[in-house]
Amino acid sequence: MGFEQFGFVSYVSQAKIGEFTEYLINNRLMGTKCKKCGKVYFPPRGDCTSCLGEEIEWVEIKGEGKLVTYTQVNFAPTGFQEDVPYILALGQLNSGQHVFARFSKDVLLEQMKIGMAIQLVPCKIDEERVIYEFQMP
Ligand SMILES: [Zn+2]
Repeated sequence: MGFEQFGFVSYVSQAKIGEFTEYLINNRLMGTKCKKCGKVYFPPRGDCTSCLGEEIEWVEIKGEGKLVTYTQVNFAPTGFQEDVPYILALGQLNSGQHVFARFSKDVLLEQMKIGMAIQLVPCKIDEERVIYEFQMP
């Protein structure tokens, strides 16, 4: 029993998009597509914010896009202190979605240029953990 009876629109378990991590581990960037209106989301969503549709399907995301803006993080929240400095970026994928993610540590701040081509890729942090990050194509 969860939030099924709360509010005007029912809440659903995040398990609906639980396969996302499994896809990333297998080096696949997957988003969700609303079966009702066709809107594609990345990161994936269990429900459509556009038409409130609840039926989704997984679709592969190419990850190519352009850099919209970025910043270098010098003071990090709890748990991320060891990682500073790092670059956070907002990108727009060629498929339309805006994605907020870290930039690869292989890229230097001096190389960053708004509007440049970027590539979103799955990235293993260690043996068990995975994220997605931007890289230069
Ligand atoms: Zn929809």
